[in-house]
Amino acid sequence: MSDIDRIVQIHRDHRAVTIDPTAGEGDIIECYCGWWYTVDDHASHVAQVIDAALRPVIENIEELDALPPDSVVRGRTGMPWHKDDAAWWPASISGVGRDASLISLPARVLYMPEVD
Ligand SMILES: [Zn+2]
Repeated sequence: MSDIDRIVQIHRDHRAVTIDPTAGEGDIIECYCGWWYTVDDHASHVAQVIDAALRPVIENIEELDALPPDSVVRGRTGMPWHKDDAAWWPASISGVGRDASLISLPARVLYMPEVD
């Protein structure tokens, strides 16, 4: 799924249940996900869902291993890592590829290629 497709789906899943054209910034609206927000907070909620979908925070080795080849993450200590088909490579060190256990977690995904 492309990033655009992900964003479109998020907007569908988190649209306002009822759209009142007279609703002001402080008025309360219901999101399709079931939560209630002010109009301003709803926009922030949708932005946070999009950010989490495009740049997820990785909390464990299994999540790292599930990322597709060519993904790039930035570990807790700031080191960026690149994944090839079999191993993780620190961005500033050449040599032997490492397994995911050396990446300090949580890590933020910086780039994740589109997968069909
Ligand atoms: Zn929502």
